[in-house]
Amino acid sequence: MKQHVIVSISTVEGSRHYQLGKWVRRSLKVLGYLTLLGLVAIGGVIFHLMDEIDLSKLRHDQLRNESQALNEELADLKSLKQELEQDLVEREQDILEREDRLLSVSERLGDLEVVLGVASTEGDIDSEIEARLDTAAITSTVRTHMLTLIPSGSPVGDERISSKYGYRIHPETKQKRLHRGIDYAVNIGTPIYAPADGVVEVVRPSNTGSGNFIRLQHAYGFSSSYSHLQKFAVKSGNFIQKGQLIGYSGNSGLSTGPHLHYEIRFVGRALDPIDFVAWDVENFDTIFEKERGIRWDSLVKMVELRVSSQLQLSSQMGVSSPENSG
Ligand SMILES: [Zn+2]
Repeated sequence: MKQHVIVSISTVEGSRHYQLGKWVRRSLKVLGYLTLLGLVAIGGVIFHLMDEIDLSKLRHDQLRNESQALNEELADLKSLKQELEQDLVEREQDILEREDRLLSVSERLGDLEVVLGVASTEGDIDSEIEARLDTAAITSTVRTHMLTLIPSGSPVGDERISSKYGYRIHPETKQKRLHRGIDYAVNIGTPIYAPADGVVEVVRPSNTGSGNFIRLQHAYGFSSSYSHLQKFAVKSGNFIQKGQLIGYSGNSGLSTGPHLHYEIRFVGRALDPIDFVAWDVENFDTIFEKERGIRWDSLVKMVELRVSSQLQLSSQMGVSSPENSG
């Protein structure tokens, strides 16, 4: 059956009919297909592009988020860096201050070592300072210990000495004999202070010889005595500290005028008190040369051992402390 395509165009002037030829129909058909194909293709492209836009939007958002996160991280890192720098500055200041303090400690220690006469080791401050402190601590403690327990300094202060230790013609008996002490020219009633810790061995009132008399026993075999006193401030058996008032000077007994006769003995043997009167922390070693009747090295060694075993030495912290054996 043959098909005919008739195109009718109606206007006010009437209708006109056109019959389309076979080739025109085919062309229209092909055109129609092509148009449809084109539309489908365009639709596909548009759909694809829409998809692409969605994807890139998503990607864009993602990138923005990532960038934000990175920025935040960067800000955190910056503030951390700032904190660390600040910390570093503070630490450097701390170290500088610490070094300053260490230096000033070292300098003061150096001064102390000069006073104590301890040889200072030239070396690294850090490693040597504790050992130096220990040496200084031992030395100063030994000195304090000995100067507290053995008579040192004057029992009446800075008073004139009218008669020295040694052989002389006795002012009363006119006989040549050993003057076993020194005489201080002091007024009656001058206070007398103990030159070392000890115990009151003798308190003896008398009108003859030494007159009113006190003898103190000190550590390590030393004793001191006081003659021609006015009155006593202690009783026999009292324990007394260095510097404590023991009595008042006078003119009692065999005496030509007010004075204090002061003696120091070592296991009963009279020594020249003048070296002990002059003895203090600054000339600590000189007595070892001047008073050769005592085995000072043995005494100092013993006191050093005692002191260093009692001191908590910083250089031995953590190490077991020395125990006394036997
Ligand atoms: Zn005398």
